[in-house]
Amino acid sequence: MRHLYLHVPFCARRCSYCDFSIAVRKRVPADAYVAAVAGELALVRAAGLAAPSEDGLDTLYLGGGTPSSLPPDALAALLSVLFDAFHAPAARDAVEVTLEANPEDVTLDAARAWRAAGINRVSLGAQSFDDRVLSWMHRSHDAARTAEAVRALRTAGIADLSLDLIFAVPAELGRDWARDLECALALAPAHLSLYGLTVEARTPLARWISRGAASAPDDERYAAEYLSAHERLARDGYRFYEVSNAGLAGRRSRHNSAYWSERAYLGLGPAAHSFDGRTRRWNLAAWEAYRRAVALGRVPRDAAETLTADERELERRYLALRTDQGLPVGLCAPERLRAWVGAGWVHVAAERFTCTPEGWLRVDALVRDLIPRPDSVNC
Ligand code: SF4
Repeated sequence: MRHLYLHVPFCARRCSYCDFSIAVRKRVPADAYVAAVAGELALVRAAGLAAPSEDGLDTLYLGGGTPSSLPPDALAALLSVLFDAFHAPAARDAVEVTLEANPEDVTLDAARAWRAAGINRVSLGAQSFDDRVLSWMHRSHDAARTAEAVRALRTAGIADLSLDLIFAVPAELGRDWARDLECALALAPAHLSLYGLTVEARTPLARWISRGAASAPDDERYAAEYLSAHERLARDGYRFYEVSNAGLAGRRSRHNSAYWSERAYLGLGPAAHSFDGRTRRWNLAAWEAYRRAVALGRVPRDAAETLTADERELERRYLALRTDQGLPVGLCAPERLRAWVGAGWVHVAAERFTCTPEGWLRVDALVRDLIPRPDSVNC
């Protein structure tokens, strides 16, 4: 295993759009969490599910939840266990170690402690620079806090920064998306992740929409904001290398790129997923169930699925079209490919076709058209 994911499930409150597997806690049970993850690691190693690679660890990603809500000493203890178990090189910065952080958790002291523990990349949940929108999202920070967090991280020596932004929020919020992009770019992050707002069942947002207190998603707004972001980011030298992710030269997320190129990874913590190249396994999602399973000496797996060769091929095509890798032109019938090029959805170079921004807006439909059908020899 060269790629590790650690899920930290705790959040101070639930954001209005979020259906992730989280545990809302005012006080993070840090000792119990560190003990449970260390216990899971011992169990999966004993079961032969977590053999370290001879090439050593390449990436470690702490996601959530809110990993930055863990006290820095708990984070340092976890990283030390994981570096040892997975043969991290002595030069720790050879490993890309990313921490997802919420701006309100970033102080100069915390950032310095994270840097000393081995964190060298932070993905900051900015989401918007409009305080009214942040409050509507139930975020716990304001725009000024995001700027302060970026300054503290840089002062502490963490220069590899990514900002998350959410677009296509309801029109009635009067959010100025162009202004939000300018605010983000003014902070000069190395990387940006842009996610369109989606409505998930059982979230506050879904309830607001069902009783008419918020408007339903608007596809035109989604497309217009997505395309304008491509245009604006390109002017500052960012390149989209995946449907939602753009970076400056050399600043792609190595960890996420490993997912998208189907490399094996191990996930630890509640709800974490693992993949060995054929079989995907995932952990019990609820924190208490996960903790109890580990305490009873059981690998806290919830379920697993093994992909057939056809399913793997479909997934490979889907992932390749979501990224700038694209696919060989031979995988698509010539007349279909000509139609897609004519519509402005893909471009062709070096015998591969790759989505344009307009193509990424409909990538699921394009992949569906690539599924072999009984009446089609080619695509
Ligand atoms: S901080 Fe992230 S994981 Fe936690 S509730 Fe908000 S969106 Fe969900």
